[in-house]
Amino acid sequence: MAGREKKVEEYDVVIVGGGAAGMTAGIYAGRARLKTLLIEKSLVGGLATYTNEIENYPGFPEGTTGLELMNLFQKQAKKFGVTFKLTDVRSVDLTGKTKIVETFRTTYKAKAVIIATGGRPRTTGAKNEEQFLFDKGISFCAACDAAACTDQELLIVGSGDTAIEEGIFLTKFAKKIYVSVIHDHGKMDCNERAREAALANPKMEFLWNTVVDSFEGNDYLEQVTLKNLKTNKLEPLKVDRCFEFIGYLPNTEIFREQIKLTNDGFIITNERMETSCEGVFAAGDVRDKFLKQVSTAVGDGAIAAFAAEKYIAESEIFHRILEKTCPCNLVYVYNAADAPSRELLHLMEEIEKEGQGNVKVSRIDVYKSTGIASRLKVTEFPCVAVVKNGEVVKLICDITKEKIQEAI
Ligand SMILES: Cc1cc2nc3c(=O)[nH]c(=O)nc-3n(C[C@H](O)[C@H](O)[C@H](O)COP(=O)(O)OP(=O)(O)OC[C@H]3O[C@@H](n4cnc5c(N)ncnc54)[C@H](O)[C@@H]3O)c2cc1C
Repeated sequence: MAGREKKVEEYDVVIVGGGAAGMTAGIYAGRARLKTLLIEKSLVGGLATYTNEIENYPGFPEGTTGLELMNLFQKQAKKFGVTFKLTDVRSVDLTGKTKIVETFRTTYKAKAVIIATGGRPRTTGAKNEEQFLFDKGISFCAACDAAACTDQELLIVGSGDTAIEEGIFLTKFAKKIYVSVIHDHGKMDCNERAREAALANPKMEFLWNTVVDSFEGNDYLEQVTLKNLKTNKLEPLKVDRCFEFIGYLPNTEIFREQIKLTNDGFIITNERMETSCEGVFAAGDVRDKFLKQVSTAVGDGAIAAFAAEKYIAESEIFHRILEKTCPCNLVYVYNAADAPSRELLHLMEEIEKEGQGNVKVSRIDVYKSTGIASRLKVTEFPCVAVVKNGEVVKLICDITKEKIQEAI
């Protein structure tokens, strides 16, 4: 880029990541008439495109391929005017009111950002692994591929909670399950209950002190060679499929300094998909969550975009309130469903009238705008926020005419 100025483009919402979560966020944001950009660095559709068979996404009783499903998501997002750019987001500055998202050629400015960068399963790094990843015999998702394992012989790599619990689940389908564990006999990383259940399961056989040395086969995985860590002996094992459960790495490196993450690097959100950074939302597998699937990514994406839309609308109202040129602005934060709250509306009108242009009253119904109440730091309703020179100088929650007049 030497000597070349970067382009600057402005959007209401920038979505980083074009998997199921990002595209659903796009559909909701686009449909809400927000100017929306989605940036995807490799394949639109994300991880789901790697699977040939999605049988558990509602609405497709005959199943569908991940690619087909994701193409439909993209078509729908485009229909609602979402702009797609295929490039890598390299850095972000999310801390200010205007969010900055940088790619190689362009600086994008946004009112809100939705992070939907997903993650990637950790792999063993054994020989030929790349060749068999996903639909060539190495799987990472038991819920997704279980039915295809009927009467098969499987290898599971790992001994944490996921490995062992998913292994037990797979015994309902598979004929035999070998489990490669790096620890000594009987030692596993999972919880005790799972350990006992697995050890007692006749379909599970544990291969202690082993790691995968190489994956072998022609077009599809046929054999795994295991290495004994104590003896260094290599032992071939014929299997129909291998499941690796040795961790999942979230794609959060570029957000690390600005957003609160779990120790494992997943983004912490509340149920509105809000992150620790105002105006930044997260959706899908990148979030710290219980179940990572397309259906849950879709739910997250919808919530994130809905919350982003509300955030943008409330920001505009909030800044209008603070920017009013009147010497004193009063913000009456009330609950329209509450009768005493409604009765005080008259008092607020009276105070505005008596102020003769020096006092302006804004009315905020918390039912519709909880975000504005929290920005004003109002936690009890009804309450009057007294704003002077763009700042809240006082909150009056025990409202009387005298108290308000004293404050203005
Ligand atoms: C083999 C396999 C089979 C599966 N089968 C099923 C199934 O049958 N049913 C089911 O419900 N779920 C299944 N899943 C899980 C499902 O795929 C995920 O839960 C879902 O894809 C999560 O969607 P997402 O949008 O959160 O993340 P992802 O799909 O991971 O999408 C994130 C996107 O963000 C992009 N990205 C990351 N960083 C950047 C950056 N810096 N700049 C720009 N873009 C970036 C990535 O390239 C990626 O495309 C399967 C997963 C795997 C691996």
